[in-house]
Amino acid sequence: MSMEEGLVECAPVLVVGAGPAGMSCALWLHNLGLRPWLIDQAGEAGGLMNANTLPNNWVLGQIAQTGPQMASQFARHLASLPIRVDMGVERFAVNRQGDALQVAVWTTQGVVHQPCAAVVLATGTRVRGRETLGGIPGIDSIEARRVCYGPAAFENLALAAQGRTVIIGGGDNAVENAHMLLMAGGEVVLLARSEFRAQAALMSQLIDQPRVRLLQQASVQQIEPTAAGMALSISSPQGLESIEAQRLHVLVGYEPNGNLEASFEAGVWSAMQHDAQGYLCVDSWGRCGAKGIYAAGDVCNPVFPNVVSAMSQGAQVAKVIERDLRLGKCLGE
Ligand SMILES: Cc1cc2nc3c(=O)[nH]c(=O)nc-3n(C[C@H](O)[C@H](O)[C@H](O)COP(=O)(O)OP(=O)(O)OC[C@H]3O[C@@H](n4cnc5c(N)ncnc54)[C@H](O)[C@@H]3O)c2cc1C
Repeated sequence: MSMEEGLVECAPVLVVGAGPAGMSCALWLHNLGLRPWLIDQAGEAGGLMNANTLPNNWVLGQIAQTGPQMASQFARHLASLPIRVDMGVERFAVNRQGDALQVAVWTTQGVVHQPCAAVVLATGTRVRGRETLGGIPGIDSIEARRVCYGPAAFENLALAAQGRTVIIGGGDNAVENAHMLLMAGGEVVLLARSEFRAQAALMSQLIDQPRVRLLQQASVQQIEPTAAGMALSISSPQGLESIEAQRLHVLVGYEPNGNLEASFEAGVWSAMQHDAQGYLCVDSWGRCGAKGIYAAGDVCNPVFPNVVSAMSQGAQVAKVIERDLRLGKCLGE
């Protein structure tokens, strides 16, 4: 029997999350002679790529493709191969039985119990939203259509550009949103709770622009509805001031998806490393600390999350799993 045949005989490798990290991992596992089993709670593959409707300029070769277009191209690639994919799964559970990982997945067809050779977490992140404004007095009295979180702040830009928008956030997305509103003819006040941390190239697009104010170490103390939108009471090193705006855009980043802890037996979870925000900590090989558990993509990359890094981490983890299984390091040494 060849080495590849030997590996295919192994139990499947469960890949949780069909974003770019998980899809890339599944493809590489298949090509390396393993049996990927890709699951996702969403109805369609692509993860956060489905929220990016702008023409791509970051993934090499995919000129002007939108996120959903690239995602469906990736999904078509997987569909052309004999890879098991279950979308719309309700939940999954991982237990260790002796040296083996026993997995249960609540699929649309019923619960599947299956020993797995390894588990890859590619569960990504979600937009930090309304909870970040919870403590601001008056926020509940503002019309919902005037407050946008994350990707929604990039919709209807022509409408938003008819007035002044206060943007909360100091990273790339907030600065890019400010720039797009300015280009569309709008007026922007950009508030960073600490320093602006967006890429220098993006920041430079705002410097010396008319119709933009940049406030660092700033925070919204109170919001009141007005006939034209809202009045925000804003404190910064320049003092307390009231700023009228038609809209509020909140672009304060992402946090890991869901409650992963609930999917793992306590003994397995306690061996896994994670930081205070819940991001999984992995070694340079993508191992999570618990034997047989790996991670790839944004769920373990709070510093520089993007499609290309997610795909490359997915590929790398597949390669590491193949190597670990071959050397007997993964399970059942
Ligand atoms: C508006 C926007 C614009 C962006 N623009 C760009 C860009 O121009 N260039 C770029 O490179 N990147 C961009 N990004 C970032 C990029 O989309 C992400 O970095 C990338 O999608 C991360 O891939 P991932 O596979 O790690 O996670 P995700 O894409 O988040 O996928 C994770 C998947 O896991 C699933 N999942 C989560 N928890 C569970 C669970 N418990 N059980 C089952 N399934 C689960 C989710 O449903 C999801 O499908 C953008 C993101 C957004 C939101």
